[in-house]
Amino acid sequence: MNRYHNFSAGPAALPLPVLESACNEFIDHGHGASILETSHRSPEFTEVLAHANESLRALASIPDTHDILWLQGGASMQFAMVPLNFLKPGTVGTYVMTGTWSDKAIAEANFVGDTHVAASTKEAGYNEIPDSSTWDIPENSAYVHTTSNNTIFGTQFQSFPKDVGAPIVCDMSSDILCRPTDFGAFDLVYAGAQKNLGPSGVTLVIVRKSWLEEVNSSIPKFLRYSTHSEKGSTYNTPPVYPIYLVGKVLNWLKSEGGLEAMHERNKVKAARIYDLIDGNPSFFKGHAVKNSRSLMNVTFNLPTEDLEKQFVAEAKEESLVGVKGHRSVGGIRASIYNAVPSESVEALAQFMEHFIQKNG
Ligand SMILES: *Cc1c(COP(=O)(O)O)cnc(C)c1O
Repeated sequence: MNRYHNFSAGPAALPLPVLESACNEFIDHGHGASILETSHRSPEFTEVLAHANESLRALASIPDTHDILWLQGGASMQFAMVPLNFLKPGTVGTYVMTGTWSDKAIAEANFVGDTHVAASTKEAGYNEIPDSSTWDIPENSAYVHTTSNNTIFGTQFQSFPKDVGAPIVCDMSSDILCRPTDFGAFDLVYAGAQKNLGPSGVTLVIVRKSWLEEVNSSIPKFLRYSTHSEKGSTYNTPPVYPIYLVGKVLNWLKSEGGLEAMHERNKVKAARIYDLIDGNPSFFKGHAVKNSRSLMNVTFNLPTEDLEKQFVAEAKEESLVGVKGHRSVGGIRASIYNAVPSESVEALAQFMEHFIQKNG
């Protein structure tokens, strides 16, 4: 086995014990077949699904007021489903603009109805999270849409406003379960699994049950949250293997001490890289404003593009893979999700120290 240090933004690193356990059960899950070739109506898969639901509810303290759904189509499908379900004539979809994914979310909502920008940090290159005291929220907002972690720019909400006067929706695709979160304070949270939760192919939705009563019943049945809620995520064939793997990631999170412990570990990991950036301001330039820095995606620039290219190439030679910034912004991005071990972060930090000694 020769696994590299994986800093990919997504699909991203999975915990090794999860891969090993899945590998052991791949051909025979214990009932004479792989879970991949087992009916989603079977007792075996029913158990896998119940386990994912129960583990998530316990681990993340999701209150009974909220339902857990496992859907497909990625977070991108949620950009469309949120307005299709809840953005009705006479209301506006209000968006807090903090990056490329917010841009894509509002663009989908614009196909459905009226939208409004509550706040935006686009002018400054999406380098910070706008203070919630500055958000402009119209009274007829159907919801306020936020993006907790901006995967491309490396910014993250440090806290959320308690009451915005409208249902609050949050795209948590790239930081869900990175820290304890009061899920009961949100009306709908969604997350494509492939960053911090599991493999690609499944999207988690946590939705307030009482809001489901307001779902637009004139849209196709498949697109309604209420359909998937009523059928316990088995209205049609769910992505059985991704759900099974997410269940294993949840077991792993629990065995590692849960979300408090994960948060502590994530803070230490991120600080190792941010401290190096701050300690060498003439060489490394962090993209995010300090009070908006992400624990999950650390973004920075080097003095020249040539040095950035050299950095990415030499990192790869050292088995540090996936540190090139997103194609839309360039620079360097290290994605250090829950499953990225401290040893990988330490290896990257030492590489950065050597790189600056040689080139600084
Ligand atoms: C990756 C990402 C998306 C897009 O996810 P898909 O599953 O590819 O649709 C949306 N929002 C955020 C914050 C992301 O990081």
